[in-house]
Amino acid sequence: MFDEKAFRNFMLDGILTEEEYIFINLRAKKINVDTNKNLDIFGCFIKPIDSNVVIDFNLLVPIIKDLKSMLVNIHEYTHAMLLYRHINNGLELDKTEKIPRANEEKYLKKIKTI
Ligand SMILES: [Zn+2]
Repeated sequence: MFDEKAFRNFMLDGILTEEEYIFINLRAKKINVDTNKNLDIFGCFIKPIDSNVVIDFNLLVPIIKDLKSMLVNIHEYTHAMLLYRHINNGLELDKTEKIPRANEEKYLKKIKTI
C-alpha cells in the first residue's frame, strides 16, 4: 500500500501534472533511513542557497515504505511543486506550510475512505 506507485498515483490525481512529477523526480534523492528518528533531515532545498532568486531546487526524501515516509514525500513534493510553478510559470512563491499540510490531510482522508 505504501510504495512509489501509490505515491505517484496520488500525486498525479489532481496535485501534480505528469511533467511536474518527472521534473521533481529528477531532483529527488531518496534514502533509506528510519523515519521515526531522522525526520528533520528531509526537505526541499532551493538553489542557489540563500538567494532571493530561485532558479532550481533539490529534495531529500525517504524511500516510501510506510505511512510516515509517504507523508514526508507528499509534503516535500508539494514544496517542490510550488517552487516549480514559481520558476517555470512565474507564480508567486508560497513558502508557507499550508498547501503541503493540506495535501497530507488529503492523503489521510483518502486512505480512511478506502
Ligand atoms: Zn514544509
